[in-house]
Amino acid sequence: MKIHHLLILISFTIVVACKTDPKKETVTEPSAIKLPKAIVPKVEEDSAYFFIEKQLSFGVRVPGSDGHLKTRDWIVNTLKSYGAEVTIQEFKASFLNKKDVPSYNIIARMNPGEKKRIALFAHWDTRLIAEKDKNEALRNKPIQGAVDGASGVAALLEIARLMKANPVNLGVDFVFFDAEDQGDDSATETWCLGSQFWSKSVQNDSSKPEMGILLDLS
Ligand SMILES: [Zn+2]
Repeated sequence: MKIHHLLILISFTIVVACKTDPKKETVTEPSAIKLPKAIVPKVEEDSAYFFIEKQLSFGVRVPGSDGHLKTRDWIVNTLKSYGAEVTIQEFKASFLNKKDVPSYNIIARMNPGEKKRIALFAHWDTRLIAEKDKNEALRNKPIQGAVDGASGVAALLEIARLMKANPVNLGVDFVFFDAEDQGDDSATETWCLGSQFWSKSVQNDSSKPEMGILLDLS
């Protein structure tokens, strides 16, 4: 048999095999599936940027600072105004040269009665030192955290605002972690203290979310 005859035979065999595959007959082409029309509310950029600006107006949000407490209260009140059931999870965090600093995860539940739940996460603290800054003079100063901190919080608040105006039949837990970004690279467990604390707290909770998305540096 010449080589091109062999190739024709193989091609023919594949075509026949495909045509006789019983699974193929039951599969519906994706284009033929009729999905309900999803309503996707519009994210307002001005609103999201306002939420960033507001956080920066409180100053740095390092646990233990004045700006930290002001930001906590503002996030809580904003979420309550969108109809969320808000709780504060307090814990003590030790980081860099600080010991047992009061820290607060903020948990806001939308549609608390819904069994099916997802979670959206961001951290709201800002880092105590900018040790990797290109400018050497800034390396022992706190970061402003417009991107690393405020942007994730702003995205979640904007989603919460839109959920109030466009209710859905789904439970959504907005979880704002604290003391996430105060770690020391020589000890990995010193990072993400708020999320470690929250994860342990929901281990045996039957209403914990099925899945989640974390926004950091968004
Ligand atoms: Zn971060």
